[in-house]
Amino acid sequence: MKIALFGSPGVGKGTYAAKLEAIYHMPHIATGDLFRAEIKQQTELGKKAKEYIDKGALVPDEITTGMLKNRLDKEDCQNGFLLDGFPRTVKQAEALEGITTLDAIINYFADDEVIIQRLSGRRLCKKDGSIYHITNVPPKQENICDKCSGELYQRDDDKPEAIKERLEVYSTQTKPVLEYYQTKGIVHRVDANTSISEPNNHIIEDTQKILDNLKEE
Ligand code: AMP
Repeated sequence: MKIALFGSPGVGKGTYAAKLEAIYHMPHIATGDLFRAEIKQQTELGKKAKEYIDKGALVPDEITTGMLKNRLDKEDCQNGFLLDGFPRTVKQAEALEGITTLDAIINYFADDEVIIQRLSGRRLCKKDGSIYHITNVPPKQENICDKCSGELYQRDDDKPEAIKERLEVYSTQTKPVLEYYQTKGIVHRVDANTSISEPNNHIIEDTQKILDNLKEE
């Protein structure tokens, strides 16, 4: 299955993708993670991308699409994948058509207050990228990853000014992608409105129902 997880920054795509990856044994390909890895390694691509990411802007389509194509060409993606954070513009959706064909888009939606609360309290592990939240999913020890003892940090683009910009970019540039796929009839909606502290199993269960139906088709 070739699936893209769609929704506003902070809706929880990364968290759901990690769970779905474990259930379906499909690689979780997040363009945001690919960029953060390039930045960490201080590659030319990483340096260029950082200028946009820190402002909350989108990295230009050619850079993003080229990087994603390289990743999807790898052996582990040949039987399917879970895309997270791509496509984010109609141009990217069109470019993806030239690379592969998606089976479904899972559109997670949540209220603005929920999104802002999730983004502003989010913390990541510097070592393994695990996602926490200062109140919703706190680590056992403050600022330390439960899994690998790495130090937790706040992404620069999770700070208030960048959050505002990212939500604006989502509404103007990314939402039209949904219309693009709606005309193809492959969009499935999932309500992601609980706080992460409450059991969010229904979000995963609802997604599983959709994916299991697709598998049977
Ligand atoms: P994310 O981790 O998905 O929130 O992505 C973090 C940042 O990486 C975004 O705010 C963008 O600056 C950049 N980024 C990730 N995916 C894309 C994409 N598909 N197109 C352009 N920029 C992206």
